[in-house]
Amino acid sequence: MVTPIKGTTTLHNGLKMPWLGFGVFKVEEGNEVIQSVKWALEAGYRSIDTAAIYRNEEGVGRAIRESGISREDLFITTKVWNKAQGFESTLGAFEKSMNKLGLDYLDLYLIHWPVEGKFKETWKAMEKLYKEGRVKAIGVSNFQVHHLKDLIEDAEIKPMVNQVEFHPHLTQQELRTFCREQNIQMEAWSPLMHGKLLDHPALKEISNKYGKSPAQVILRWDLQHGIVTIPKSVNEHRIHENANLFDFKLTEEEMSRIDGLNRNERFGPDPDNFDF
Ligand code: NDP
Repeated sequence: MVTPIKGTTTLHNGLKMPWLGFGVFKVEEGNEVIQSVKWALEAGYRSIDTAAIYRNEEGVGRAIRESGISREDLFITTKVWNKAQGFESTLGAFEKSMNKLGLDYLDLYLIHWPVEGKFKETWKAMEKLYKEGRVKAIGVSNFQVHHLKDLIEDAEIKPMVNQVEFHPHLTQQELRTFCREQNIQMEAWSPLMHGKLLDHPALKEISNKYGKSPAQVILRWDLQHGIVTIPKSVNEHRIHENANLFDFKLTEEEMSRIDGLNRNERFGPDPDNFDF
């Protein structure tokens, strides 16, 4: 799969979503997020992943407006935070996010975490927003197979995306198979395991062969697995580096070698055991 930087996957409702996005978790509201998003847009990213809890939606919105890029060429994702889950409160949270972003429609709205006893009501609000055309696609984040099965059982609309932790130490084979069967696009958060995998000898060896960095090899592995990836950086050089993935291709053997690094090891919280 050799895809240009603006290459897209098609979600089950027909919406096109870029394979590569720019994550802004822990990027500070104000100058830092405005500058980083502008660099990302200059580098060619067209998809930005934020969340209400990141508290930087205003800066994301400002960077988008000041970039001069047409709204229809952008793909903007935000997420409803756990404390706002429930039907009415999700509708309220959505309006707050839209005001902060300064947008009149959103490309993708996600349930941030599967809060037990709440996520089905939350999903009803997501379906309403989708039917009203306020959101082009709706999805979930941090859902395990059992959460998805439970949600789909009562849902009118199946989630289009599941954004989960995914990197060479957490390859999520069972979840990937389920999402593929259900036509739910998987999206990788912390694709670089927050920078912790970049000294791995196997990744270094593969990266040397292509004159690429270990980060580029990991992100390329995501794309070749058909997984949308959203690396974060606040450094202009690394923002460009993470987008420069479209002029090399890993062999089947290299793909398997990276798959073999799996340890079922999470960097972030466990979706079956979180208390926030
Ligand atoms: P990443 O795996 O993207 O790693 C980011 C870290 O790696 C930063 O410290 C960054 O530092 C460093 N880095 C980035 N590129 C390079 C490079 N080329 N070489 C060396 N170091 C690099 O972690 P995130 O946790 O930020 O995940 C990405 C995005 O996923 C988030 O921003 C967010 O949008 C989303 N996410 C979603 C979650 C969810 O629950 N749905 C949870 C967590 C994340 P520097 O900035 O200095 O370059």
